[in-house]
Amino acid sequence: MTQPQGFDTLAIHAGAAADPATGARQVPIYQTTAYAFRDADHAARLFNLQEVGYIYSRLTNPTVAALQSRIAALEGGAGAVCCSSGHAAQIMALFPLMGPGLNIIASTRLYGGTVTQFSQTIKRFGWSCKFVDLDDLDALRAAIDDNTRAIFCESISNPGGYVTDIPAVAGVANDAGIPLIVDNTLATPYLCRPIEMGATLVVHSLTKYMTGNGTVTGGVVVDSGTFDWSASGKFPSLSEPEPAYHGLKFHETFGNLAFTFHGIAIGLRDLGMTMNPQGAHYTLMGIETLGLRMPRHVENAQKVAEWLEKDPRVAAVTYAGLASSPWNATARRVYPKGAGALFTFEIKGGYDAAVRLVDALQLFSHVANLGDARSLVIHSASTTHRQLTEAQQRAAGAGPEVVRLSIGLEDVADMIADLDQALTKATA
Ligand SMILES: *Cc1c(COP(=O)(O)O)cnc(C)c1O
Repeated sequence: MTQPQGFDTLAIHAGAAADPATGARQVPIYQTTAYAFRDADHAARLFNLQEVGYIYSRLTNPTVAALQSRIAALEGGAGAVCCSSGHAAQIMALFPLMGPGLNIIASTRLYGGTVTQFSQTIKRFGWSCKFVDLDDLDALRAAIDDNTRAIFCESISNPGGYVTDIPAVAGVANDAGIPLIVDNTLATPYLCRPIEMGATLVVHSLTKYMTGNGTVTGGVVVDSGTFDWSASGKFPSLSEPEPAYHGLKFHETFGNLAFTFHGIAIGLRDLGMTMNPQGAHYTLMGIETLGLRMPRHVENAQKVAEWLEKDPRVAAVTYAGLASSPWNATARRVYPKGAGALFTFEIKGGYDAAVRLVDALQLFSHVANLGDARSLVIHSASTTHRQLTEAQQRAAGAGPEVVRLSIGLEDVADMIADLDQALTKATA
């Protein structure tokens, strides 16, 4: 190939040449734990990281490696490491950067599970998180201190579908000499390529649109390869000698692949949050049609959001693709192909009406997932956010009257008909 390949070509071909052993055209599922060494010297060289190859599937597996190459190509990164879930990817992204006493700054607009991971669980490692409204760049600058090691945001955020001005946030991260990590789950590289806008690392829950059919839990960390890990002395895991590898320095030895090699050789080796080859296979299949699916998700979401906004039984709709959204200008500028397909709306009649609506919907499945070919609905206040007080629910965009929709790929007329009949029952 002489010209740079387009998105849809990469989605089908990147990382997936015909199998050298058999000619199998589709990526085989290498359902194996271990790989035979050629001889003792080969084994020793692999274990010393002097030669790249397969040892044991906790670290590397050919099916998973094909997926890693494909996602790195789609995101425009230098390398990628797949792992067992989106939440695993977040820990894998932070692990090389962090240590006891260090902090990150995260957006206030995040997936609820990430809020819990960052506000509670990471404290057990001695890490902490400050939550800041990233639309306020002065507040972001003011929150960064000597112990801050990363800024974390979602490109399009769960559950409201609000959008982050990634170039602006990346500018602040760059001035401070710290990496920006973008969770690109809701946008996918089809709608947003954070690395081109200045992000250092991209993480995904592959569970969602990337696989696209609700069959897999998986995650990935993509490294841009552009961050200078040795410049400030703030990232010793990457710049200083690693005792577990005879004093090898990852950045000096592997250059723009330092973060990726560290993710495999230390991260997967010692944390063990490994993706399995079956899961990688399903995700590879899903990504082949990403460029067909995402425009349809967006088109359907726009139509459903516009229909809901006009309906007198609905009090408000959060979709950033609507002209009425405070995020519409940012969405048009930073996400010109669309603002994704996840948003919330408020039903008139409060908690009881919202619960009746969820029960009355037939095409929409009531599940705690998103990014499926099927349209999905959840009422956060009675499920994911039920442990919170009403004030906390409202702050999280999950008040009692709020319903979250993940718009799928069915005929949009059928989605609207289903919402129409359910709104009638819910508000009767
Ligand atoms: C689902 C989700 C996650 C967590 O991913 P899992 O694969 O469920 O671990 C993280 N971020 C966002 C935006 C998500 O939607």
